[in-house]
Amino acid sequence: MFRSLAVVLLTLSLAACASGDRRNAQAPQRPAGARPITLDLPTSRETKACFADLSRAEVRYSPLPDRDFGGGCQIVGAVQLLDIGIPVTNLRAMRCGLARSFSGWVEHAVVPAAHQMLGSDLVRIESMGTYACRNVVGTSAAYAARRSGHATANAVDVSGFVLQDGRRITIQGGWNNPDPNIRAFLRTIRASACRRFGTVLSPDYNAVHYNHLHIEDDRAGFCR
Ligand SMILES: [Zn+2]
Repeated sequence: MFRSLAVVLLTLSLAACASGDRRNAQAPQRPAGARPITLDLPTSRETKACFADLSRAEVRYSPLPDRDFGGGCQIVGAVQLLDIGIPVTNLRAMRCGLARSFSGWVEHAVVPAAHQMLGSDLVRIESMGTYACRNVVGTSAAYAARRSGHATANAVDVSGFVLQDGRRITIQGGWNNPDPNIRAFLRTIRASACRRFGTVLSPDYNAVHYNHLHIEDDRAGFCR
């Protein structure tokens, strides 16, 4: 009697494991243009640790619901940054790891570099956005068939820096500026971004990046 009960309990617990594994398995990709759905996923340990890191760094943020927009475009474990010490335009959904590295880069690299190399404090950063459901642009046809890091809210395009003295330094106007301090500032912050992010693409990479730094939180080790 006890033995058969034990077998039943064991069978039940194995069945629970199996269904748990199925729940965690990657859902099949929904077609592009599908109705966006909110995903009912448990918050991963990695994302929880990232939220704690943001709080520790005194970054204000709000977690965003996990959403699937179809066609491989998904926002999972993302946040809306509310205050990282310096206003940044056009920041919407960012995966938490990207938001954490971006906040650290701004605080520990961009702000001090502006102060030391340009002699004025940074008052605003301009971005061209974060999440966008689209493919990679401006590369070979085979490569361009791939979804961009923006399609998973894992990339941000940074385009300009406004200083307290009124100057506005853009990637487009500053990369080859006659002022060597401006050129050096932009290359310094690119180099520091390359130490913090897996992919950094600048005007040196290709023509489509003439006006922004594409910064992506992957592990590609690609810095141009
Ligand atoms: Zn980009």
